[in-house]
Amino acid sequence: MGNQETAASELAFHGEKAMGSQVCSLTPKKGLPSFWSSAIAKVLVGENPCLLQPWLQSRFDGPKTVNSNMAGWKADHSAKLQFVAEQYRRNGWKVDVERFFRVTGQFAILSGKADIICQKHDERPLIIDVKTGQPRDSDVAQVALEMLMIPMAWKTDMTFSGLVVYGDQGVDVTARQAAELKPKLFKLLRDLGTMERPVPAPGKDSCRFCDIPDADCGVRWKDEQTEAATVEF
Ligand code: SF4
Repeated sequence: MGNQETAASELAFHGEKAMGSQVCSLTPKKGLPSFWSSAIAKVLVGENPCLLQPWLQSRFDGPKTVNSNMAGWKADHSAKLQFVAEQYRRNGWKVDVERFFRVTGQFAILSGKADIICQKHDERPLIIDVKTGQPRDSDVAQVALEMLMIPMAWKTDMTFSGLVVYGDQGVDVTARQAAELKPKLFKLLRDLGTMERPVPAPGKDSCRFCDIPDADCGVRWKDEQTEAATVEF
């Protein structure tokens, strides 16, 4: 057997091992389970009740659902982000946009991208997330998470304030909210990083935006599951 075949077999074996007896159409990732901040924020606040989704995404690469609205959403988000960043620059802040961060723990990796980070002499530094949709609890949780992880990624003891911007409205996120989230966040990462494959928990909203192929889940939410006709009333 050639080197390439050996590597492919090892990869397939790793996938089978990670999935137990489950057949998997996804490609195993190397290294620790690796999570993305927005997905973890949704689980933290209960907007996504399905642990299987982040569990699979952290361990496997796979085909992504093609979403024709994504290009329009990205352009809209980028324009709003630049507008907000410019307001802060004009007020004398040093502004970084789309700052990537990554923190590696013993059992899991957490990565993300903060929309805007503002710093100014004698002011508390600020992390801003610009949202284009309706306000959600996970938006606040995502900024709180970034307020915890960016100092860790930068290896500093800086304390950040947070802000979620919706149109011309803003929701503050305090350092205290971030500190209160910390034990819950770290426990979730430890649990997701070490648990066996969890059972899926389909939900209308979480399944609608889930990229996991049906071959790897099989219980994707269908609207007809909750719609029926009866003659009994
Ligand atoms: S399709 Fe639904 S049930 Fe399946 S992994 Fe995704 S969110 Fe979970």
